[in-house]
Amino acid sequence: MIKQTKYMKLSGLEPLVLSPDMNFINVGERTNVAGSRKFLRLIKNEEFDEALAIARDQVEGGAQIIDINMDDGMIDGKESMVRFLHLIMAEPDISRVPIMIDSSKWDIIEAGLQVVQGKCVVNSISLKEGEAVFREHVRKLKMYGAAVIVMAFDEVGQADNYERRCEIAKRSYDIMVNEMNFPSEDIIFDLNIFPVATGMDEHRRNAIDFIEATHWVRTNLTNASVSGGVSNVSFSFRGNNVVREAMHSVFLYHAIQKGMNMGIVNPAMLEVYDDIPKDLLEHVEDVILDRREDATERLLDLAESFKGGAGKVQVQNLEWREKPLQERITHALVKGLDTYIVEDVEEARLLAAKPLEVIEGNLMIGMGVVGDLFGEGKMFLPQVVKSARVMKKAVAHLMPFIEAEKDENSRAQGKVLLATVKGDVHDIGKNIVGVVLACNNYEIVDLGVMVPPEKILEAAIEHKVDVIGLSGLITPSLDEMVHIAKEMKRLDFKIPLLIGGATTSRAHTAVKIAQQYDHGVIHVLDASRSVPVVSTLINEDTSQEFLDKTYAEYDVLRDGYLNRARKKVYLPLDDARNNKFRIDWKAEDVYKPNKLGVQVIDNLDLNELVPYLDWTPFFQSWELHGKYPAILTDEVVGTQATELFQDAKEMLQKVLDEKWFTAKAVYGLFPANTIENNDDIAVYTDETRTEVLETILSLRQQSKKGSGKPNIALADFIAPKKTGLEDYIGGFCVTTGFGVEEIAEKYRADLDDYNSIMVKALGDRFAEAFAEYLHDKVRKEFWGYASDENLSNEDMIREEYQGIRPAPGYPACPDHTEKTTLWRLLNVKENIGVELTDSLAMFPTAAVSGLYFAHPRARYFGLGKITKEQVHDFAERRGYTHEVMERWLAPNLNE
Ligand code: SAH
Repeated sequence: MIKQTKYMKLSGLEPLVLSPDMNFINVGERTNVAGSRKFLRLIKNEEFDEALAIARDQVEGGAQIIDINMDDGMIDGKESMVRFLHLIMAEPDISRVPIMIDSSKWDIIEAGLQVVQGKCVVNSISLKEGEAVFREHVRKLKMYGAAVIVMAFDEVGQADNYERRCEIAKRSYDIMVNEMNFPSEDIIFDLNIFPVATGMDEHRRNAIDFIEATHWVRTNLTNASVSGGVSNVSFSFRGNNVVREAMHSVFLYHAIQKGMNMGIVNPAMLEVYDDIPKDLLEHVEDVILDRREDATERLLDLAESFKGGAGKVQVQNLEWREKPLQERITHALVKGLDTYIVEDVEEARLLAAKPLEVIEGNLMIGMGVVGDLFGEGKMFLPQVVKSARVMKKAVAHLMPFIEAEKDENSRAQGKVLLATVKGDVHDIGKNIVGVVLACNNYEIVDLGVMVPPEKILEAAIEHKVDVIGLSGLITPSLDEMVHIAKEMKRLDFKIPLLIGGATTSRAHTAVKIAQQYDHGVIHVLDASRSVPVVSTLINEDTSQEFLDKTYAEYDVLRDGYLNRARKKVYLPLDDARNNKFRIDWKAEDVYKPNKLGVQVIDNLDLNELVPYLDWTPFFQSWELHGKYPAILTDEVVGTQATELFQDAKEMLQKVLDEKWFTAKAVYGLFPANTIENNDDIAVYTDETRTEVLETILSLRQQSKKGSGKPNIALADFIAPKKTGLEDYIGGFCVTTGFGVEEIAEKYRADLDDYNSIMVKALGDRFAEAFAEYLHDKVRKEFWGYASDENLSNEDMIREEYQGIRPAPGYPACPDHTEKTTLWRLLNVKENIGVELTDSLAMFPTAAVSGLYFAHPRARYFGLGKITKEQVHDFAERRGYTHEVMERWLAPNLNE
């Protein structure tokens, strides 16, 4: 029996009593910057009137409470909360309902409590930061007279099973009610709704555990309510509203029966329980209630037939098959469906005079639609890559027929050569550009990765290409691009040069590359820009105007850049060294590792890495920008991101089941101290600290800073020898890259760029996850300086731990030659097979390497610009010529 003696009473201008005849309260959540891109934009732009309209829509749409959240890095949360609440209070048609003040920051909550009228709900407090903070919040809430959502979250983390949910709820309740006399009817437990049907076994009980814990709370913790965010449960079925709506209804149906009485639900996303088709209902209940081993697979299968529609099974799904031929071909291309494409293309071929007409006619019409939708922002990159897959299959079917009629020449719009420059191995971006251009009827000559300049230029002449596109990810690649531009000038090329890839920038292109070559050096920020840029450049009518405009912009950029650079003052190297980051060295801040020396992890179970995966950069690699998981519900890219994520998770499962990648790592922990010049770290062979094994050289910030700010170098975080303290340093290299290339190649051979890119992107994710995993182990066990650390996954991704793992090539240590030291120190190549290219890129690509620093004050910073004096000094210490070092460190050189 539900234990209820008192009922929660809330109020805006009007009262809201959670009485027995009201079995469920529905909270509106569109006024939440974390959940609504639109609302965020309005608040950022201070368009408060429009923002108010969203609140009004919510109330008119039936929300009984409105949740307001202003937690975003780009806005002043406290100010926006107060201002928005003030405005709401002046609108009786909105403020008639109670407000839910939602923030993870207590000071925002308290600021809200001070302006809101009536009795509101605070969302949320928890035991996350321990009992002392929790008590303090409860004490204040009593004072303000608010109801409160208590998250099932404690010092250890979020409750994710039945026992933990009950345990945390009880502990919170005991403190609040029994100890502090907080009104029990004003407590609402949010017991965490997590997705089911994710394909992972540990998620199978997510819904049923919530439902059972709800029952426990309602029958054991007198008067307390239970709430949760319902749409989470169906995350895996983003893009399939029929299934999602059914899942929400089924979930609520069972949870409400067990006592859930409040929740965030989008009323538009609910199907009437009784209207759910019988078989769908059964399959959904199997999943929600975890009734069968194979529930997820069965629902996935069934879900296919409900895809993309408003409920009418199969019939509607295949309706497009009844349409005329061209419409079918266009539909298949736009939707990325390859099931019928060969059939349709064959039909078109039989109708056409020549097979080539099918490409230039039917297929290009379809791709034209894709191109337009993409251009209008109505389609996104992953979809375009899927369209390309269909296109390739169609072309592959036609090729033998075209070749049989030898004399025909394809009339592509133009030819583009693409290459990742010498020494660099990254090609996700380049491949995407290739696919996007190819589906716009450009012929692509893709030379792959690590292509020497001679080969690029020879191939450009041989294939008579119209444009050369270069890609690179690491800084030495920038210099390669400068070199190629110079060579193009020397050899009298006349075609434009496109520059792209992660380290490239418009500024660098303007300052360093553009002047080397007169026939157009264009920086292309992302793949979606490549089509308009290439088409403008190839067209004689538009190319000159475009080049003039771009070069005028470059001039402005270059002048601004040079002016700023000229104004900067740099310290002589010695002065910078004397102004180092000063640490008050204490014995308790240096930690002796539990185990010294080099260790190898040979073949880690990939499943171990799954919790450490950071998905935000995954979406970035597909040019979908936004933070995971919010990106999945983003108003603009949400559907696309969700679909992509679903595909990623499907592949992820295969990676795990079929062990596609091999995860290997090597790491080492060594005695170390900094030495006289302040910038170098001596790594000793053993604890006697008499013999130096290797010296790690660090670069030091050199720009003159005001107000006593230091000029930092990584060496500042290791105790100087003269302190007499025995300090330590670590190094690591991890890879999950063995296996990635082979599988990517298989997909490519199968004309499936989408999955080929996907597998590389996943390989990279696993490598980063491995770096996170290993760092975690190092902190807690191998070095052991943070054995009692306790961070959630999100906090770990935010790197909120003690110590850092700077990676060569990143802002604090842009010098890649550091990797050669690391490779010797750890015997990386012999131990795990990761190699360094000429430009010191790692191969396989899915690899991460770096150093470990443990001192509590160690932190990331940017080196910024340094002078030739330091570059030359560094070159000598490293054993390189001045000239080579100047080129390698070009982006950091102050000229
Ligand atoms: N979770 C991300 C992490 C990669 S970026 C992912 O999955 O892709 C964060 C890493 O970059 C850090 O751990 C560190 O190795 C490196 N890094 C960040 N800032 C740095 C800096 N200023 N200097 C050196 N390395 C830095």
